[in-house]
Amino acid sequence: MAKTPKYVYLFGNKKADGDGSMKPLLGGKGANLAEMARIGLPVPPGFTITTEVCTYYYQNKKTYPKVLDPQVKAGMAHIEKIMGTKFGDKTAMPLLVSVRSGARDSMPGMMDTILNLGLNDETVLALVKATNNERFAWDCYRRFVQMYGDVVMGVQKRPGEDHEPFETVIHNLKHERYHEDIEDTKLTVDDLKELVVRFKGLIKERTGKEFPQDPWKQLWGAIGAVFGSWMNDRAIVYRRKYNIPSEWGTAVNVQAMVYGNTGERSGSGVAFTRNPANGEKEFYGEFLINAQGEDVVAGIRTPEPVVQLKNHLPQAFAELENIRKILEKHFKDVQDFEFTIQDGKVFMLQTRNGKRTAFAALKFSMDMVEEKLIDWKTAIRRNPADQLDQLLAPIFDQKAEKAAKVVATGLPAGPGAASGKIYLNADRAAAAAAKGEKVLLVRNETTPEDLRGMIAAEGILTAKGGVSSHAALVARQMGKVCVCGAGALQIDYAARTVTVSGQTFKEGDYMSINGTLGNVYAGEIKTAASEIVQVLIEKSLDPKKSKTYQMFKQLMDWCSKVTRLEVRTNADTPEQTENAIAFGATGIGLCRTEHMFFEGNRIDAMREMILADNLEDRKKALAKLLPYQKEDFVGIFKALNGYPATIRFLDPPLHEFLPHEDKAQQDLAQKMGVPVEKIRNRVKELHEFNPMLGFRGCRLGIVYPEISEMQARAVFEAAAEVQKAGIKVRPEIMIPLVGFKKELDLQVEVVHRVAQEVMKEKGVKLNYLVGTMIEVPRGALTADEIAQTAQFFSFGTNDLTQTCLGMSRDDSGSFIPAYTELEIVKKNPFATIDQTGVGQLMKIAVEKGRSTRPDIKLGICGEHGGDPDSVKFCHKIGLTYVSCSPFRVPVARLAAAQAALEEEAASAAKKPAKKK
Ligand code: ADP
Ligand code: MG
Ligand code: MG
Repeated sequence: MAKTPKYVYLFGNKKADGDGSMKPLLGGKGANLAEMARIGLPVPPGFTITTEVCTYYYQNKKTYPKVLDPQVKAGMAHIEKIMGTKFGDKTAMPLLVSVRSGARDSMPGMMDTILNLGLNDETVLALVKATNNERFAWDCYRRFVQMYGDVVMGVQKRPGEDHEPFETVIHNLKHERYHEDIEDTKLTVDDLKELVVRFKGLIKERTGKEFPQDPWKQLWGAIGAVFGSWMNDRAIVYRRKYNIPSEWGTAVNVQAMVYGNTGERSGSGVAFTRNPANGEKEFYGEFLINAQGEDVVAGIRTPEPVVQLKNHLPQAFAELENIRKILEKHFKDVQDFEFTIQDGKVFMLQTRNGKRTAFAALKFSMDMVEEKLIDWKTAIRRNPADQLDQLLAPIFDQKAEKAAKVVATGLPAGPGAASGKIYLNADRAAAAAAKGEKVLLVRNETTPEDLRGMIAAEGILTAKGGVSSHAALVARQMGKVCVCGAGALQIDYAARTVTVSGQTFKEGDYMSINGTLGNVYAGEIKTAASEIVQVLIEKSLDPKKSKTYQMFKQLMDWCSKVTRLEVRTNADTPEQTENAIAFGATGIGLCRTEHMFFEGNRIDAMREMILADNLEDRKKALAKLLPYQKEDFVGIFKALNGYPATIRFLDPPLHEFLPHEDKAQQDLAQKMGVPVEKIRNRVKELHEFNPMLGFRGCRLGIVYPEISEMQARAVFEAAAEVQKAGIKVRPEIMIPLVGFKKELDLQVEVVHRVAQEVMKEKGVKLNYLVGTMIEVPRGALTADEIAQTAQFFSFGTNDLTQTCLGMSRDDSGSFIPAYTELEIVKKNPFATIDQTGVGQLMKIAVEKGRSTRPDIKLGICGEHGGDPDSVKFCHKIGLTYVSCSPFRVPVARLAAAQAALEEEAASAAKKPAKKK
């Protein structure tokens, strides 16, 4: 007989069935509770129901495996034994538990925890008796009925209601009895009892069901609710944003309650072992005296900084300081942990690697190497590549900020500078951002419902809540600028105004926030470049004076030590080229020559060329373009100073260069001295039903070889000139949109012929390559033939994605959101390479290309070249380089180094297995 599967893992009493490595099975919370128990930290006993049960639940019409029931019973018995109390005890201290969700990756605030489960009309009396604390017992009970009613029984805000119905009940009672919003801690026993009655009434009225009195029924209801919440809207939105697959599922943790609300010697808090906003090595976080955990993050009461705990409960503080050290030493990373103090005794309820800003990540990694907690390779992996560009984001212009009026201050929760039009509601904020406005989301506090608005906003400003409030947490993770708990703001949701310092701001008015200092300003403030940009690009800051730059440089230097993939840039001007090289690019991977035809008078010559109806006129117009184009290349070659440049020949359809509006056509006709009809007709002729698949790419150069000829001449004349000046030049000419070997052959012939001519004329020898883009499926599939001619391939993944998927990027806006929502595509394929589809074409092309030409140079030049996941994929399939926009170069370098380290780790893990 098969062994009974193990669905329940126990922890408690310095022991555990599981451990920290079991996150896929136990979820992040469960695995780390087990790990903390193992290393002897004070964790209340409990058990974890595995994520496999979640999967089973959804595959079997929301039912559980048969063997779960006895395993859960055994789990409860385990808790009872350690605690010395009984679940549902009506005569002595009853065992109460929390029921907590816990996915593999933490999903803050996405799923709801139920506290104090096991209370009913009888056990509450037993709790009163056992603790001799009537207020505490009834406070627990009313919290429990509220949470259970909300999370399990679904009593939630209805459309049109402004407040949560339970909050309305509390509000009404306070006003009936005290005529004002007193703090919850001021509610009397009688108030709390009355709340329990009214809550039960509300549940009955809204659901038609009674609040369940049987503790076991409560327990199974709560377990079902946690599994159910895996598919709620908020969880789905969050998973989509962070690309967490829905198959992973959540675990459920059932854990003995400890109480932070028994009085002044108790409390609850959230802390970080170091400051996750600025990276400083200081104990960071906050707590509330006489509160249960959810009060701290809910932002209802504003908590105190954790260091103040010293003044209230010095012993507990000392214990926490010690735990802080133990955690870092053990987990070797900055921890974000939750604790509760019950009558002076500290309990640990959660720990995880703390989310951090890009700046904090950088500082942590540098400091920890110095402290010998981690090595430099680990330091590279500790910096999330997709966050690195936060370090290059603008800050406020110093002068402008000094001149601006500070209207309020709050807590600096997400560093950086943000200026925008204020909106007080997430939907309106998202709508405004969709129209291209810069938006600042302003709220009293945020909840997971506000996520869409937070994603859309430049920055987030809240009036209430501390540094571990929802707003702060999410902002940190998304790298948003955030100021929270700016208590002076008076927000009127109905009137859509914010009043502060005697000034009233309407929705749509500008405000600005400095998330590094916590300042809130009236109006718009000019932003300035980040320190790194000031050092590297503007050269206005002395590198020795910028610590940020020093750390950034160290990180990049380490990256260079392990990277196999080169990082080039997409650049069409000397300036862009210089910027990219300053960021560490080692060449141009894509120089789009057509961009050069739009500037100043060049467009006139270009239009003349397009309007010409015979070869001679066309050549005349091209001759006018030649010096411009040559001049561009001279600048670029000089900027490259010896690095290679991949230059793509003309690619877009010609109609893109002609004016389409009547007035513009008339102006052009006048300027060129031709009848306007001629222009109109040519535009009509060039009109295509499907320009993306039309007369473009190498098709232009094949029909009009004189265009390619001019471009080749410009490249080689420039190369000759710069080489004569003593600078090495390495042009790599790239023919776009090739699907047939013959297409490439015809173009290469032109290039070689012109090269010979120029070398002879100028008396120099030039080294150059000719290759092609692989950007249509036929090109990928016949890569072995194409490689007979091509000396290099560069994957044009924008077009390759369009043509492989049969999906136009510019038209995909109308359905891609639905596709991501339905998880037809996991990520937008135009942002991250579709590895299973497009990726296969790339692999085929790599393999076939190498079979013909083993040393063929391989690169990528689509937008994907700056996307960390795509960079890692390119590393895996063995490309020589990726190319991306100049400001993405550091991101790509980091991703490339991480890819190399991941490969190293994977092959190290394989080795011992082979030996056996
Ligand atoms: P989230 O994933 O949203 O952080 P948690 O499961 O961590 O939810 O629970 C929220 C809060 O509830 C915790 O911060 C903790 O303070 C409190 N809590 C959870 N379990 C217990 C428990 N067994 N005893 C006391 N407080 C608890
Ligand atoms: Mg938590
Ligand atoms: Mg293309």
